[in-house]
Amino acid sequence: MQDFFNEAKGARAARVLVDGLSDMLLDYVVPEGLEVQRGWRVEIPLRNRKTTGTVVRLVEQSEQLRHRMKPILRALEEVPVVSSVLMDLAEWAAAYYAVPVEQMVRCIVPEPVRSERHEEKTRKVVCLVKRPSDDELNKISRRAPRQASVLRYLMAGDEGKEPLSDIGGTSALAACRALEKRQLVSIGEEAVHRDPTSKEQFAPTSPLPLNPEQEHALQVILEARKARDTRPILLQGVTGSGKTEVYLQAAAHVMEQGEGVLILVPEISLTPQTVARFKSRFAQHPGAVAILHSALSDGERYDEWHAIHRGQARIAIGPRSALFAPVRNLGLIIVDEEHDSSYKQESAPRYHGRDLAVLRARMEGASIILGSATPSLESLHNVSTGKYNLVRMEKRADGQRLPLTRVLDMRTEAKDKRYMGVLSERLRVAIEDRLEKKEQVILLLNRRGFARALQCPDCGYVVTCEHCALPLTYHLTENRLVCHICGYRSVAPCTCPECGSKAILLEGCGTQKVEQILMRCFPRARIQRVDADVTTRKNALRDILESFRTHRIDILLGTQMISKGLDFPRVTLVGVLNADLGLNVPDPRAAERTFQLLTQVAGRAGRGEVDGEVIIQTYSPQAAAIQFARRHDTDGFVENELGLREQFAFPPFTHMAVLTVRSTQEDMASFAAETLHKRLLSVLPAEVEISDPIPAPIAKAYGQFRFQCVLKAPRARTISDIVSAEIKRLAPGEDITVTLDVDAYNFM
Ligand code: ADP
Ligand code: ZN
Ligand code: ZN
Repeated sequence: MQDFFNEAKGARAARVLVDGLSDMLLDYVVPEGLEVQRGWRVEIPLRNRKTTGTVVRLVEQSEQLRHRMKPILRALEEVPVVSSVLMDLAEWAAAYYAVPVEQMVRCIVPEPVRSERHEEKTRKVVCLVKRPSDDELNKISRRAPRQASVLRYLMAGDEGKEPLSDIGGTSALAACRALEKRQLVSIGEEAVHRDPTSKEQFAPTSPLPLNPEQEHALQVILEARKARDTRPILLQGVTGSGKTEVYLQAAAHVMEQGEGVLILVPEISLTPQTVARFKSRFAQHPGAVAILHSALSDGERYDEWHAIHRGQARIAIGPRSALFAPVRNLGLIIVDEEHDSSYKQESAPRYHGRDLAVLRARMEGASIILGSATPSLESLHNVSTGKYNLVRMEKRADGQRLPLTRVLDMRTEAKDKRYMGVLSERLRVAIEDRLEKKEQVILLLNRRGFARALQCPDCGYVVTCEHCALPLTYHLTENRLVCHICGYRSVAPCTCPECGSKAILLEGCGTQKVEQILMRCFPRARIQRVDADVTTRKNALRDILESFRTHRIDILLGTQMISKGLDFPRVTLVGVLNADLGLNVPDPRAAERTFQLLTQVAGRAGRGEVDGEVIIQTYSPQAAAIQFARRHDTDGFVENELGLREQFAFPPFTHMAVLTVRSTQEDMASFAAETLHKRLLSVLPAEVEISDPIPAPIAKAYGQFRFQCVLKAPRARTISDIVSAEIKRLAPGEDITVTLDVDAYNFM
């Protein structure tokens, strides 16, 4: 790491991130004799009261200034809340993603830990001090039956200790107090751990005997661990190849060595099975596995976080933000479904969880596994340059064959007289057949493409940019097609340039409408829709998945949500209703995402005894992403796609960033974007490309007009350093927000 990570020598002032909602940074004097370091929690005076904060860095201050500063009152914990490695990570990420370091520190120390309100919860417990003799007990039960029943209750348990709430709560308190006087019991306080999974049962499981591919993968991981090798291992295993079993056994080994394990999963609510498998495997070590995510109550988060920090929980599992979990003596990081887009945070700080996990592993000397059936092109590229080590698993552990995949050309299917809209006759017949056999069906509706691309429903032609080979986006207001990557504009054609059809505007179709159509087609089937509307209720998704598993639902209809690591043995048919919608978005990763989605969803079919079938409906049957997915040919897709990316200088061959200017005033947003663009043109080195500012594909959101420029450079830091300096120099006014998204995954 660079010099600025080292603490300033002899510095006597500390810059403190004050707890509370704003990013307030204040300098305080470190009094003689007080030891404080980066990452420590301190008590500080603020106006006329005391408050708390986290030391972000130690600074050298002039005597003059020091006189005006107040002193730190005391350090709060002996063990710093943020380790020096995590502080280094925060500083690195702040520079890379062009955000103030305090934003990163906020991610590392979650809100419930920062605020004092959620301190440990305690409860009253009653302990049996002395067992009364039978005589004594009889005497008590004659005069004070309530006291006797408390004693009997305590004597019946194996511990002689019960929470007051179980004995009868406050109504039993008087009896307990009387018993305390008799010195038969004692009443004390005990910390309660607010366990987010306390209501669930996890039956212990034992390690499965590994097949040769799994065994090899495990050996590579354990050897890396032994050698303290931090080079990431990309575990590319087809869906069902048993990656989770490899993770479990690797984690167990690392834990036996006294080291901690960090597991990142896409989104906890979508991957309940992975969490349950870890909880079950380590069920004989209660409290060993802690779960971190935002859907927990503040109290649960506080307790889980502290259990990890204290070293009680050796395994932490959670989504992207869990990468900052204070796991002690970290030996192994596992990033499951490493290609998943949820690892990228879409609000400030816009960091990538997988990328920071790789960095953290290197800083901590931990080993790291990135697992996926469809790895990101970034990771595969890192394999080809030798940065990552590749391990493959090509056979399904459950002995199943990959499902048969058929592609239906909707340009002809939609002409069938029986076409109901959305559902082709062939897919309808296939669903009917499964329902008759009492098997289950998953239907996927790809909703990602809500920017309007022009596609011809008759021939499938999509109007694309000649410089980027990506779909142009239709802007109604000016009747123009615009490329959102390079800024190229053209007039929207009235007829299809390919076949001359006049029906060229694509119309979208929501999950609700599809649900209605399904209910008409299959009146007796139990149909459940899963989309953002349905799943706003807490645990809704979990309950739906549980009903589906227990076959109280026949057809599950949903968006990409349902494509993740789910394992339902009775699903024998997966239908993808509109495979192309995700292709027609102005995004260099559109094909990659579509391929991953189709492959992942196909992996849901045929996990049990019966072979699975996948039916893909599309207007672009010739698209590479669809054809390679149909053949389960990941290597072919990757080779083809990497070739294109290199040709158009897209990631992973370059870094791309999106600069967005927002304002409630359209002209102000546009003017600020123009000004910034002009200045950047004059200061950016030649190797950085910048597009002209244009309205974003989503030109207005939350009442703000949005203008954007896309930047491309060989090194991300070149963009971050120069652009963030120019944003500061511009000093945008009140009603203008400027954001920079480095290594952007969202170009809307
Ligand atoms: P992946 O995560 O690679 O998609 P899973 O870990 O979900 O695959 O494994 C698929 C299925 O195979 C699961 O039901 C799992 O219990 C089973 N399985 C995994 N490893 C083995 C093994 N060595 N022997 C038998 N079954 C296994
Ligand atoms: Zn056409
Ligand atoms: Zn272009």
